[in-house]
Amino acid sequence: MESTPSPNSHSQNEYTQLLSDAASRASRYLATIRERHVGVAGDALYNLAALGGPLSLHGEDPRFLLKLLDQIGSPATIASAGARFFGGVVGGALPVTVAAHWLADAWDQNACLFDLSPVSAYLEDVVLAWLLNLLGLPPDCGGAFVTGTQMADVTALAAARYAVLLKSGWDVQSDGMFGAPPVTIIVGEEVHATMWKALALLGFGRSRVRVVPADSQGRMRASEIPRTQGPAIVCAQIGNVNTGACDPVGEICDIAHALDAWVHVDGAFGLWAATSPARKHLVDGVACADSWATDAHKWLNVPHDSGIAIVREPEALRRAMSITASYYPDPASKREPMQWGLESSRRARAIEIWAALRSLGKDGVADLIERTCRHAAMFAEGFRAAGYEVLNDVVLNQVLVSFGDDGSTARIISAIQEEGTCWCGGTLWKGRKAMRVSVSSWATTEADVTRSLDAILAIAARESKSESQSASQL
Ligand SMILES: *Cc1c(COP(=O)(O)O)cnc(C)c1O
Repeated sequence: MESTPSPNSHSQNEYTQLLSDAASRASRYLATIRERHVGVAGDALYNLAALGGPLSLHGEDPRFLLKLLDQIGSPATIASAGARFFGGVVGGALPVTVAAHWLADAWDQNACLFDLSPVSAYLEDVVLAWLLNLLGLPPDCGGAFVTGTQMADVTALAAARYAVLLKSGWDVQSDGMFGAPPVTIIVGEEVHATMWKALALLGFGRSRVRVVPADSQGRMRASEIPRTQGPAIVCAQIGNVNTGACDPVGEICDIAHALDAWVHVDGAFGLWAATSPARKHLVDGVACADSWATDAHKWLNVPHDSGIAIVREPEALRRAMSITASYYPDPASKREPMQWGLESSRRARAIEIWAALRSLGKDGVADLIERTCRHAAMFAEGFRAAGYEVLNDVVLNQVLVSFGDDGSTARIISAIQEEGTCWCGGTLWKGRKAMRVSVSSWATTEADVTRSLDAILAIAARESKSESQSASQL
């Protein structure tokens, strides 16, 4: 039979060349990332049009496509894999995790079932046990490897919903939410926006949720948790995305458990404070909660996407997630990943977490957390020394700074993003405009902090000067 020639039918040699080309392009990208503009500069956005246009009829040469992607795509990336991106809690990726990710991409495993990827299912068990140990959580928890904390919240809260309703004699898996006993949902005033989406998806609409006031740092005032009756879920937060503050989770657990409520912890990045001897007091009592959601792509610095849902009572998670069909194996004997999470076919996320944890070890993880917190403290000291107001207690890796009135702060943030030495974003804290510095990357050094501070302070001084000049001309 004659085969149809096509640009996509490679010889093995072409395949190898294509992968080497990708590797050298990627290496070059990472090798030069420290010296490039951290944002997107020049014509990069405009040039993206070269990646669009009508779809070709007959397909194009893969080597050409890779080159195009690199030439046009690379400049239109934000250099968050570099050392001076501080705009949001976005980690870089440890070198070993990028390399492991490449290998895993070549494996192209479907992680849904043990039989479709023994290595992936096995590593999920291994990594889950390590994570529970590292984060100080009970050793028998169940877990799912998901896209991020948003999805980890959905997953863990589905287990919570299942468990609290079952206690009231209602099986939500078979009887659904219509007619179910009402579940009281309690969150702190500073709950992360993604939690609202998770709750709404599960049938807990916004106007039904009880909101507990927070203190000046954004911590839930535990004493103000409403004393409810009936099924209830209290959502605590470890690591406020603005201030880094952690809810008093031990106290919350005591109060909630006395009400027979489930405690869920959104610990996207903050949960990692548990790995650092110097910071773990911030999460005292966290092991008493019933479920936890966290990220590996933020503070552990593995490639996106990677989140973990953890549930104290494994059966609650498995029952909320499990499905049966004649073509799926019986999940009793080994880990069937799809029986623990929402997704069926998906990538093998545990691989990069395995690589990160094994290469760092316990001390290495603690050092990564400590180092980034120290860098955040350096930023705060630098801002204060220059006379600017730091709006939060810098307990973790988050710093909020104001450069004066809201207008000046906004202008200075834009100027910093345009200048390109580093990248920081804006936020509102207690009604005031602030610049938020999140230090989450393994790659950031003290020299990067100093270089970024110098650039930020020079821009702030210049902007303030030009502002007072234009004011005096009025
Ligand atoms: C980042 C974050 C989330 C959302 O996590 P994703 O990984 O983006 O889904 C939720 N809660 C908190 C506190 C966060 O910092």
